[in-house]
Amino acid sequence: TGVMTEVAESEALATLHRVFGYEAFRGEQEAVIEHVVSGGDAVVLMPTGGGKSLCYQIPALVRPGTGVVVSPLIALMQDQVDALRALGVRAGFMNSTQDFDERRTVEAEFLAGELDLIYLAPERLRLESTLDLLKRGKISVFAIDEAHCVSSWGHDFRPDYLSLSLLGERWPDVPRIALTATATHATHKEITERLGMPDARHFVASFDRPNIQYRIVPKADPKKQLLAFLQEEHAGDAGIVYCLSRNSVEKTAEFLARNGIAAVPYHAGLDSGTRAAHQSRFLREEGLVVCATIAFGMGIDKPDVRFVAHLDLPKSVEGYYQETGRAGRDGMPSTAWMAYGLNDVIQQRKMIQSSEGDEAFRRRAAAHLEAMLALCETAQCRRGQLLTYFGQDDVAEACGNCDTCLVPPETWDGTVAAQKVLSTVVRLQRERGQKFGAIQIVDILLGRKTAKVIQFDHDQLSVFGIGEELDEGAWRGVVRQMLAQGLLAVEGAYGTLVLTEASGTVLRREREVPLRKEQPKPATSRGSSSS
Ligand code: ADP
Ligand code: ZN
Repeated sequence: TGVMTEVAESEALATLHRVFGYEAFRGEQEAVIEHVVSGGDAVVLMPTGGGKSLCYQIPALVRPGTGVVVSPLIALMQDQVDALRALGVRAGFMNSTQDFDERRTVEAEFLAGELDLIYLAPERLRLESTLDLLKRGKISVFAIDEAHCVSSWGHDFRPDYLSLSLLGERWPDVPRIALTATATHATHKEITERLGMPDARHFVASFDRPNIQYRIVPKADPKKQLLAFLQEEHAGDAGIVYCLSRNSVEKTAEFLARNGIAAVPYHAGLDSGTRAAHQSRFLREEGLVVCATIAFGMGIDKPDVRFVAHLDLPKSVEGYYQETGRAGRDGMPSTAWMAYGLNDVIQQRKMIQSSEGDEAFRRRAAAHLEAMLALCETAQCRRGQLLTYFGQDDVAEACGNCDTCLVPPETWDGTVAAQKVLSTVVRLQRERGQKFGAIQIVDILLGRKTAKVIQFDHDQLSVFGIGEELDEGAWRGVVRQMLAQGLLAVEGAYGTLVLTEASGTVLRREREVPLRKEQPKPATSRGSSSS
């Protein structure tokens, strides 16, 4: 601190007023900006919508030279630059969408010192020609946006990010600021190490989004459940529905539209014109629902998204947090709603097993899935779990604004049920040398003479019909929770069920198996529960 800083500080505030038209800094912004303006490196962890952009835009405006922003979001660069230009900021970008002339113009502006900010894709910085160009100009600050892309632990790894450590080597006097909304301890550590920023100051904003209500419901008929959720709680609201496949995106959008909800699809298989049109309708119209794969949403700044719904299980808690975080940026009450069922668990386990990735990749993917399942199956406060996962332990015991807080789940002793499932798996394997998936196991337990049961003589098994005390949905819930608890495993392309080491402890009656009671339709704050 000192005279320099004080001057810089007021310059930063003046820039906030004059250029951006905002009254005051939010949260950590001021501290971050002060630190970077006076030449320090910073690692900034801030949730989506927290206001990361100003953290580098203001230092770029206040310090002499051009701020270089590294961003993987090529599709958004034009929009970002247009928005800045509209505010009178001299901004430009360089990426593969430009033709030769456009690039030449930007280069000339940069060299003449006529740019406050220049956006680059990370792959550009692997080119000597780009580095040469940057050397010939004056740089005020390097901003590395979406910095979690450097982490192989994260869900969004981009190899090009690895070469960004050279920025510190080649420009030791230029401050660097790395920003992300993804912040597990592991990612955080990797960002610092891999970008070579050991002396950076760390700024960690709270990850809590108190206005978002988190709810995870057992999946029965997901499209119908979604429709009821929208009709009862979000009629006429804008929102995003995430599905895993393009096909289910299309079908869900059709289904909603047929039922009177303004909904459009968005996925990478649509041509770019349609995608752009649907995106801009979402931003401009009121109350449009976009059904999308995770291709949709990165960098989209729509403050009044009232709900984010997941019809399929996200691959990681990071992904879930980021996707749900697109709701309620304006601070108004919003809902993160997800339907989750047995098939999600089986499908994702299968996907991991049949993936092309190496052993290490699979182990990581499995760990991500485990964390996600733990969040789904928890009987404790979801928000608490979520924030603990992100290393934030200053959380109240119960938030009062998630399904488990609003309607605390009951548990029941599922030991006998679990033993019945395991016995069936064991019988099939020992007596018949067969492995089957969950559908067949449940049919056997229920004593159903389906074609497939008859075909394999499974009505002759001693376990046939031993599970008539529960219905199909309940059995699927039992199997799902057993999978999540590691008492069963999924194998191979058909998703057959097999035993794990922990299965033995249940079969030998060495442990109990507490299970969550399923609530097909948890009561909302309006108390409209039924079962
Ligand atoms: P992030 O990149 O962290 O997701 P943004 O930088 O896009 O978030 O900011 C989110 C929204 O908040 C934007 O609309 C931005 O203009 C607004 N914003 C950021 N900082 C402030 C501030 N100090 N005062 C008012 N609005 C702000
Ligand atoms: Zn809670």
